[in-house]
Amino acid sequence: MILCKKLGGFKLLAFLLVFCLYVGEASSQNIEYDKKLGKENAQTVKEQMGIYNNPAMTAYVRSIGNRLLNHLDNKLFDYEFNLVPSAEPNAFALPGGYIFVTTGLIPILQSEDELACIIAHEIIHSNNRHSVKQMRKGILPGLLAIPGAILGIVNDNLGSIFQAPSHLMVAGYSRKYETEADVEGVALASAAGYDPNALKAALTRMTKAIEVYTGSEEEKSYFSDHPYTPDRVTKIDKEIAEVEIKTTPPIQEQFAKQFNGILFGNDPKYGVIDGQIIMNPTLNLYLNFPKDWSIAIEPGRMAGVSSAQDAAIVFAEEVEFKDAETAANTFIKNIPPNQQQNVMKDVYKKPDGSATGSLIAMKESTKEGLVFAHVLWLPHQNKLLKIVAISTKEQLTTLKGIVDNMRTLNAKEKSSIYSRYMTAVQTTDGESLKQVSSRTDNQLPMNLLEAINDSKEAEVLEKNSWVKVIKKKAYK
Ligand SMILES: [Zn+2]
Repeated sequence: MILCKKLGGFKLLAFLLVFCLYVGEASSQNIEYDKKLGKENAQTVKEQMGIYNNPAMTAYVRSIGNRLLNHLDNKLFDYEFNLVPSAEPNAFALPGGYIFVTTGLIPILQSEDELACIIAHEIIHSNNRHSVKQMRKGILPGLLAIPGAILGIVNDNLGSIFQAPSHLMVAGYSRKYETEADVEGVALASAAGYDPNALKAALTRMTKAIEVYTGSEEEKSYFSDHPYTPDRVTKIDKEIAEVEIKTTPPIQEQFAKQFNGILFGNDPKYGVIDGQIIMNPTLNLYLNFPKDWSIAIEPGRMAGVSSAQDAAIVFAEEVEFKDAETAANTFIKNIPPNQQQNVMKDVYKKPDGSATGSLIAMKESTKEGLVFAHVLWLPHQNKLLKIVAISTKEQLTTLKGIVDNMRTLNAKEKSSIYSRYMTAVQTTDGESLKQVSSRTDNQLPMNLLEAINDSKEAEVLEKNSWVKVIKKKAYK
């Protein structure tokens, strides 16, 4: 990946954490191993982060990737380039040629050369087989880790949300590999006619933007797996001195314009988190979790887990079945005969009488005591929700409370959901960044706006230059 930083605490980045760890290389395996590992992980990326669906922007990113690939010696894989919706500014490569650029990275960049240098860095990680080993450290090692027949069934139904944080694939590389990706990446970028110096500019701006986001300065640490940005820049300079720079024009001159309207921040369609509340405009659903619970969203799923990790609940839309009864009956049919005595079917009614659903209740004794699992299918707004919960006996009332209190969003809540997007605007004569910001109703704090535009607020900008601002619009 291009940057490896802990970004906790920054509001936009909610519960994102980037894990940096050293993993071994896959050189003893043949390249089919990379392809298989990459394909599986790419599927997980699609499930947990989603793919940003904008054909024109994706086509542009792919054309940059392909221009680089035309100059790659010993190309091992069929490469695939995608944008993923994430507030975190980053890019990452999976084994087997799967390259991802986050939507959060785009506003930080100033030119196609910068994006090309970053994609080149990622191509080298993948092509040189700097294996990324998936982090499998779930946030719920407690109950879900207990083996058992019933729990196994429920575990499958909980899906991947607790198995790995959404950022699983961004395990880091060793310093050695980072340097190799930087050095060979700039060589590849220059071979393809891009200015290799753009990598330094991009890295420096990304580091600066992240420092502004997180409010803490990058530290030079001997123990960090990731090289310190100024050290990287020095090494890149050394490499650049040795490559022949013959830049050819970019595919698109106006970089920011190509990404006009790109999502900034997380995609509200999957739900937004406000304290202990999740508001999901797609499902028209309001969920309120107890005070100390951790909550998480991934495309199509919302979840909460108690701090003691003795209760967890996942909400998703049931897409396989149309009605609760059929879904519940099919579920029961699939439970092995020797477990049927632990399964009960019931009817659940919302206390306000707004909905009635089918409930499957299961219990299992484990060495940790009795564990309860529930699967509920409940009609909600012409849709069917599937709610899966697991807990100790003590937490059953709390879980029921969460389900009893779920409801549709009211008008005020709906209108409080915004999506933010980047827009490129052209300066008029004598305008400063500050003036552009107020003219366009920019939502980004000035220090960040300065960082992403390489400019100071009072500085008068060249007429007709492109400035990136962040605007918001009500979600639907
Ligand atoms: Zn990297």
